[in-house]
Amino acid sequence: MRISAVKTHALEHRLAVAFESATMRFDKRLHVLVEIICDDGTIGWGECLGPALPNAAMIKAYAGSLIGMDPLETEKIWAVLYNLLRDQGQRGITITALSGIDVALWDIKGKYFGVPVSTLLGGRFRESVRAYATGSFKRDGVDRVEDNAAEMATHAAAGFHAVKIKIGFDPQEDLRVIRAVREAIGPDKRLMIDGNHGYGASEAIMVGRAAAEFDVDWFEEPVVPEQLAAYRAVREGQPIPLAGGETWHTRWGMHEAISTRAVDIIQPDLCGCGGFSEARRIADLATLYGVRCVPHVWGTAVQIAAALQFMAALAPDPMRNRSLEPILEFDRTDNPYRQAVVTAPLDHVDGVVAIPAGPGLGITVNRDALAEFRLKEDFDV
Ligand SMILES: [Mg+2]
Repeated sequence: MRISAVKTHALEHRLAVAFESATMRFDKRLHVLVEIICDDGTIGWGECLGPALPNAAMIKAYAGSLIGMDPLETEKIWAVLYNLLRDQGQRGITITALSGIDVALWDIKGKYFGVPVSTLLGGRFRESVRAYATGSFKRDGVDRVEDNAAEMATHAAAGFHAVKIKIGFDPQEDLRVIRAVREAIGPDKRLMIDGNHGYGASEAIMVGRAAAEFDVDWFEEPVVPEQLAAYRAVREGQPIPLAGGETWHTRWGMHEAISTRAVDIIQPDLCGCGGFSEARRIADLATLYGVRCVPHVWGTAVQIAAALQFMAALAPDPMRNRSLEPILEFDRTDNPYRQAVVTAPLDHVDGVVAIPAGPGLGITVNRDALAEFRLKEDFDV
């Protein structure tokens, strides 16, 4: 079996109401899927975290090296593509694009052997995972405190055991949001806060100290990802466990954060950190230092499926503490093609998501949705 073609599918949805994190404004949802076609007709699907068009352009740059290779040789292909751009491409779009390719190759490998990716990774420790609802972005024209509290109450009522809210804006307003959300979801639901690296270290320490009374499980991306010393200062200066990693790439990009315990929870994104091939190395690194691995997810059902396959194969914590089991990030913001890109949505039931058991990623891509949401502007990649 040889790789005969590599395609990208850029998808777009213009939002009726724009929303913001601390560092990014969204007026549309734009994601790119990767399709790798083999000479026997087998097709694998992947997705890239981050800007869709630069990722698509990067995949086009890799495609020439992929054509004619054996798709089962995932380690070899990873090394070939990484080494192509090693000198100038150790992180960023080079790796997010490589991630989408790697995920598609593992999908092909699973289909070839007739087993889910989780079986290839060593076996399924679980058939489902609890999901946590991510939302509460800042929306135009509404009172943020009331809006966030109402939204999170909805997610709690839908059965989610945990919710994650966006902070990193004005610290005092953020604390009012945290208080209001805790009151809205009640004392028993788990609550996480995500700064999207909107604070400086001293602000983050102040917010973390003040937020601790609201029983917060983790404080994600308190400061910019380049400043591990600031991470460590925040970790030492306030009591909430720190999470981070969605913008760090490869084992080399994660190693220092893990080995110096800059974070308590590492969050590799399957479609950003280097794919399955690299995520399992990162998860292994985390076990050496007692760091919990909870993948980041932000994209379509292709990315959700990748995270689910990976989480199925994560070994359980030896203490069998259910609170340390992997949990699935479940984006609740507006994106009509998130689940439409697959024929069987990966939805939750009372906050629990079943892990597909079919070959590869366990999904079937819906090409009608790819056509419906295809990026309209000129796009020749
Ligand atoms: Mg985040």
